[in-house]
Amino acid sequence: ITHIHMDHLVGLERPAFGKYVAKVNAPIYMSDISKQLLSTMPIYRHLIPYFKSVPIDQPFTLTIQSNDPVQAKKKEGGESESIKNTLSSHTPNVVETIVVTCFGSGHCPGSIMIWIEGEHGNVLFTGDFRLYHGQAKRLAHLHRRRIDNDDKYLFKTIDNLYIDMTFFRPEILHIPTREVCCEALILWIKGLLKEKIKCSLSF
Ligand SMILES: [Zn+2]
Repeated sequence: ITHIHMDHLVGLERPAFGKYVAKVNAPIYMSDISKQLLSTMPIYRHLIPYFKSVPIDQPFTLTIQSNDPVQAKKKEGGESESIKNTLSSHTPNVVETIVVTCFGSGHCPGSIMIWIEGEHGNVLFTGDFRLYHGQAKRLAHLHRRRIDNDDKYLFKTIDNLYIDMTFFRPEILHIPTREVCCEALILWIKGLLKEKIKCSLSF
């Protein structure tokens, strides 16, 4: 889970999801702040035992074991011919170790991007993020030194990019900066206070 906004939690509350998580004892990874926030929401209470907070800015390894597709077909009562086809297209019991790095996405408290490096390529899952023009350097985990002892950095290869971004829509062409938003909020609050003072004086 990248962050705690409802449009990024769709389906998490569904009984079928809860059943699946319990059946395979699957951890649900998120930042510690997200874990604290999510744990306060009653509809997710049954998932709390599976919440697992991830370190931020510290790469960690995960070992992924794929389901054995042949056994799965046998359980389903698959025909021997289809099992043979499965054998030819899959390697059963594939174990792969991946390196996962989670880092702040600058969107809201606890929001993270997830960077996965593995034998079969690199994946970036963004969630919502705030990144101004020219700020790509801020994403230090996506860079590597060009050669050892070199000050120059290159972008690592991103093989799969998932932009899971609420604002990545053609109708949202402009997002004001945080500073502009703050100024607008202060003006709005000042206006409200003035109105309130006027009202209380008139009574
Ligand atoms: Zn969001």
